[in-house]
Amino acid sequence: MSTTLISGGTVVTASGTLDADVLVAGDKIAAVLAREVTAGEVAPAADRVIDATGKYVLPGGIDVHTHMEMPFGGTFSADTFETGTRAAAWGGTTTIIDFAVQAKGTSLLATLDNWHAKADGNCAIDYGFHMIVSDVNDMTLKEMDACIAAGVNSFKMFMAYPGVFYATDGEVLLAMQQAARSGATVMMHAENGIAIDQLVAQALAAGRTEPVNHGLTRPPELEGEATSRAITLAKVADCPLYIVHLSARQALEAVAEARDTGQNVFAETCPQYLYLSLDDLARPEFEGAKFVASPPLRPKDHQDSLWRGLRTNDLSVVSTDHCPFCFADQKELGRGDFSKIPNGMPGVEHRMDLLHAGVAAGQLTLTRWVEVASTTPARMFGLYPRKGVIAAGSDADIVVYDPQARQTLSAATHHMNVDYSAYEGLAVTGRVVTTLSRGRVVIDDGVYQGSPGHGAFLPRGLNQYLR
Ligand SMILES: [Zn+2]
Repeated sequence: MSTTLISGGTVVTASGTLDADVLVAGDKIAAVLAREVTAGEVAPAADRVIDATGKYVLPGGIDVHTHMEMPFGGTFSADTFETGTRAAAWGGTTTIIDFAVQAKGTSLLATLDNWHAKADGNCAIDYGFHMIVSDVNDMTLKEMDACIAAGVNSFKMFMAYPGVFYATDGEVLLAMQQAARSGATVMMHAENGIAIDQLVAQALAAGRTEPVNHGLTRPPELEGEATSRAITLAKVADCPLYIVHLSARQALEAVAEARDTGQNVFAETCPQYLYLSLDDLARPEFEGAKFVASPPLRPKDHQDSLWRGLRTNDLSVVSTDHCPFCFADQKELGRGDFSKIPNGMPGVEHRMDLLHAGVAAGQLTLTRWVEVASTTPARMFGLYPRKGVIAAGSDADIVVYDPQARQTLSAATHHMNVDYSAYEGLAVTGRVVTTLSRGRVVIDDGVYQGSPGHGAFLPRGLNQYLR
């Protein structure tokens, strides 16, 4: 069994920091050796030594919301499982949970098979799946249990996108009741799509076709309302609820209130809602199309609420909702009609860096960074302690991170398969030096050493925050 020693670094976990060397044996962490205790007297021989002096040693990032090669509006998101997981590894993410997407009239199990076929043999890092339920019927409801047995126990539903993914309140309730019987979690895209569609039609009829109208026709109140409704339905069904990509203060208030009453409600936000705003959607010359995602970017004054929510744990997780569409050919589909711009933004590569920028800015502590980016995602989606922690026995998914390095985010240097960066020109402090996935060096001091097919499917357990 080959061994690697990561020496001289500061191990950062959700519970604290420790000057320690980390011994990896095969694909697992064998030991965490506190230097204050060993004083150099225990210096294990290893086949390879990675010098982490002056660097952080982190559990690999876990991005629980990605969409690789996802069908949307007649096109596909631009990253494949191969290119997307490679970009993730560059950015210090060692696990993704992607979404299998049930099309209307198809079965959940056939959908899961399709997504396995897309990912199998192609991923550079480990991966799991959530299931998008877009067609609630007797067969689908029965199949949910089979999905759980197959290691997929989180089901995403949509209050948005009528005619595509949209589920009625009755359908949501039925699926929640079914999920609750097994302890599975329902994830919700909470926006009132029925009302939004009316606002979109009014805007287009009035000739307001520019990308900014994507944001203006999806006001934060309609995210707040849908979030409250989802929480109420989950309460009636007694089902754990996870609000995806929360972007609006109104939605955060609804989540905080539900959590205060003891309801099992959780929420994530994404870097784009922490750093970008409606002003970006309003960039001229159709530039705003680069920032079209749903829910939309909000006015700047929502950002402080989201950072605060991350500190108070009303927001528990930061994921990316990585769903890249190229500006040329794909975003262009919506020139002259903002409602035809494919919804989604790239981000899987920069989540760890953008959150570290939040640490540098005093928005998050170092340990909270690791918690929201790795440890809580592992617990929330049944992967802990295999993932999400640096501890003996855990998978050797490890990132050596240089907190002093400077980098400028740009499409010219990123590794995502998309022709623009939402953060073009943004200078940040901190960058990944080395990424290990189950003991294998994938990013080696700035050189990609991984291979498609190293990444394995992760069957997951239930949400570990529940009784
Ligand atoms: Zn999404």
